[in-house]
Amino acid sequence: MTAIDGTPIRIAIVGVGKIARDQHVPAISGSHAFDLAATVSRSGGIPAIENFAEFAELLAARPDVSAVSLCMPPQVRFAAAAAAIRAGRHVMLEKPPGATVAEVRTLRQMAEAEGVTLYATWHSRHADAVAPAKAWLRDRKIVSVRIDWKEDVRKWHPGQAWIWEPGGLGVFDPGINALSILTEILPAPVHLTGAELHFPENRAAPIAAALTFEGPDGVNVTAEFDWRQEGGEIWQIAVDTADGRLDLDDGGARLTVGGAPQAVDGPGEYPGLYARFAALIAAGDSDVDDTPLVRVADAFMLGRRLTVAPFND
Ligand code: NAP
Repeated sequence: MTAIDGTPIRIAIVGVGKIARDQHVPAISGSHAFDLAATVSRSGGIPAIENFAEFAELLAARPDVSAVSLCMPPQVRFAAAAAAIRAGRHVMLEKPPGATVAEVRTLRQMAEAEGVTLYATWHSRHADAVAPAKAWLRDRKIVSVRIDWKEDVRKWHPGQAWIWEPGGLGVFDPGINALSILTEILPAPVHLTGAELHFPENRAAPIAAALTFEGPDGVNVTAEFDWRQEGGEIWQIAVDTADGRLDLDDGGARLTVGGAPQAVDGPGEYPGLYARFAALIAAGDSDVDDTPLVRVADAFMLGRRLTVAPFND
């Protein structure tokens, strides 16, 4: 059933959209631990891989598929995750792990009760420069952090209606990646103290956001998320410390300390996620960190809402 004896774990991808095609299929193909055995897709799936139109059909027909990777939008992920856990399957959740904090906590309890692995992934934490950044910051006094996470929504989320609906998170869909890195690399937690959320007048989710956080010893963090960026994306985190400045660029792929570029390497984000999922299954563990989602929930709770120009794809 698992890779413990060297036999690949049969896994199914559920929801074959942009991220499944761009990242999950290649990462599973390159993994010795997993074998892509099936898909669940309303639109047809992947050539030469058995496809099911309904998730319940897969669970009934393929007891040999012991793990599922849920790549559909967050608003419809809970029901599938709960069904998979009840059916005794290990579950990997794309980010964000759910549409609410509470549903993720329910899934964590269900997985524990059923004795299956639940893995809430944060792909940006597996960017090559994140672990060395965390190591460098571990014993340092942090003064401030500045995050700029700006991209063109038309390029990165073309025609994705769900992302503008409640639970789709709007600009927090990419912004939560920055928050997943922030909450990983800082030696002590920071909490949200203010937010401004810019909602297009025709949309139910924000197109831009400005956030502030505070932490121990006067640490302050500011973050700007914007989907109206044109001319190339900016995915940067700059950390000022008592010992100088650390820069994470390109979404966590590049590291600069005191202006000097640092050599980094690693398997890459999605190969790293699948290696971690295999290790969790082998160890009988789960990994469900909802910290980044809590930060986003706080922004929706505390944020001041401003109406801005309509957005059309
Ligand atoms: P997407 O291109 O819209 O694909 C989502 C797929 O889920 C759809 O193609 C559809 O596949 C399936 N689906 C099932 N129920 C659905 C529903 N009610 N509405 C819409 N689709 C439904 O989205 P995506 O970009 O792959 O994002 C999916 C998840 O991955 C999100 O949580 C996102 O945050 C995360 N993610 C995306 C990126 C990125 O760059 N796009 C990067 C990292 C993580 P079928 O037709 O096969 O059923």
